[in-house]
Amino acid sequence: MFGLMMERPLLISSLIDYAAKYHGRSEIVSRTVEGRIHRYNWADAQARAKRLANALQRLGIRPGDRVATLAWNTHRHLELYYGISGMGAISHTINPRLASDQLRYIMNHAEDALLFVDLTFVPIVEALMAELKTIRHVVVMTDEASMPAQTALRAPLCYETLLAGESPSFEWPTFDEKTASSLCYTSGTTGNPKGALFSHRSTMLHAYFMCMADFVAIARSDSVCPVVPMFHVNAWGVPYAVAMAGAKLVLPGPKLDGASLHDLFESEGVTLNLGVPTVWLGLLRYLDETGKRFSSLQRTLCGGSAMPETMIRALEERYDVRVTHGWGMTEMSPVGTVSALLPEQRALPKEQQYAFQAKQGRPMFNVELKIVDENGVALPHDGVSRGELLVRGPWVIREYYKDEAASRVAFDNEGWFRTGDIATIDEYGFMQIVDRQKDLIKSGGEWISSIDIENIAIAHPDIAEAAAIGLPHPRWGERPLLVVVPKPGRHPSKVEILSLIAERVAKWQVPDDVLFVDELPHTATGKVMKRSLRDRFGDFTWPAA
Ligand code: AMP
Repeated sequence: MFGLMMERPLLISSLIDYAAKYHGRSEIVSRTVEGRIHRYNWADAQARAKRLANALQRLGIRPGDRVATLAWNTHRHLELYYGISGMGAISHTINPRLASDQLRYIMNHAEDALLFVDLTFVPIVEALMAELKTIRHVVVMTDEASMPAQTALRAPLCYETLLAGESPSFEWPTFDEKTASSLCYTSGTTGNPKGALFSHRSTMLHAYFMCMADFVAIARSDSVCPVVPMFHVNAWGVPYAVAMAGAKLVLPGPKLDGASLHDLFESEGVTLNLGVPTVWLGLLRYLDETGKRFSSLQRTLCGGSAMPETMIRALEERYDVRVTHGWGMTEMSPVGTVSALLPEQRALPKEQQYAFQAKQGRPMFNVELKIVDENGVALPHDGVSRGELLVRGPWVIREYYKDEAASRVAFDNEGWFRTGDIATIDEYGFMQIVDRQKDLIKSGGEWISSIDIENIAIAHPDIAEAAAIGLPHPRWGERPLLVVVPKPGRHPSKVEILSLIAERVAKWQVPDDVLFVDELPHTATGKVMKRSLRDRFGDFTWPAA
């Protein structure tokens, strides 16, 4: 027997309608690509998203069509999120920092019909345009006065002119909540990028989670700044959750350096920011150099790559910012776990609390985790057994978009998604990534965790960043090499770094050598590109034993 309750679909359009109606005066502030600060509110954003939906219809966009964006975090990008998904089309956010081969592949594979582009990225589109097979129009996200005077684009449209010509009345259509809403390709390091196609339902459920007390807890009283790009898994779903909470949204545009972010946080009373640890590297350096502090920032959600314990400690002890470490994947749209401490953990000595916060955390309701050995057998949650992490849940993909070959290997025979991460899970349910499957170092048949070595190295006061990579070795198959970026003006010695590591790991796990470099290569989302490092040092000669 079924219950007798209404079946109202969970649709993204209801978020902006709710924010406009009940929190219409909550502000949305963004630093624009043109440089000035733009300020309006949820009611204004709703009216402009509706103008946009009318414009999309006029340009021939139909439900299910893919509409691409190459854009920073700004109010116009926000309008695209709501206008495109609200009218039933699919918003396809693209990472502009990808190589041109990948961009071409992604846009052709997605068969995007329209492309909205920020001024900054017009040259990328000019170079690619001839090879983009399905794009009918390019819309430049600016006003008439700032349109590029000369461009190789054929008849580009102007965003502001397009909106000015439309009515702010638009009836959002009602459809099945399982309808696709947005598309994001992961810049996976092997093979072609793979598409994760989110639905209205998965997006809404994820937004509820982001507002849940005890986890990220976005609330009406917050001023939220997603530094994580809107082209990286919908800025972790923040633009949806902030509308659900009716909170203030602060969008940093293209200026992501420490000084600009600090300035924006201070002027807009930002209470919560979200981003990868690299962003904090820049912010902390700026604060250390200038002696400045935060007057409103209370907490940060940091993820995408491991947040070092030293950074968590610095933020909490020196700057009074509470750190929640999160883990997720594009394929999980994206948050899977957060390291919000349980009451019994808060009673532990501070040292132990930091150790838990440095783990990737426990899953929220609706995300299931398991770790398995190489035969797929589930391992115990004892904090020691390490295995591949598999996940299941209503905001996890069930297959990749139009990629049967990749989909076949991405799931086990019960439908769990293979994350490719190697993890432990402790008795509190806290998951810790100890390595990535593609990034383990196998020496003499034994595994070495590159993340463990990096975390120890990064605790050295003179080291800014460190990456451990496995390189071929004539005797052991592979051995670890540590590549280190010293802090400006500091000169840590090889011997002291290696003895620091030797204090914490087995002797055979200590890297065989340390190389000093000025910087490490990062992906657009802030992860160290290990493969590119391995290529760079491919002909490295090990020191004689
Ligand atoms: P992406 O799909 O680009 O977000 O990448 C997802 C992958 O990033 C995960 O499978 C992890 O390998 C890594 N990752 C994400 N968050 C963290 C974290 N907090 N600590 C360590 N690795 C992380």
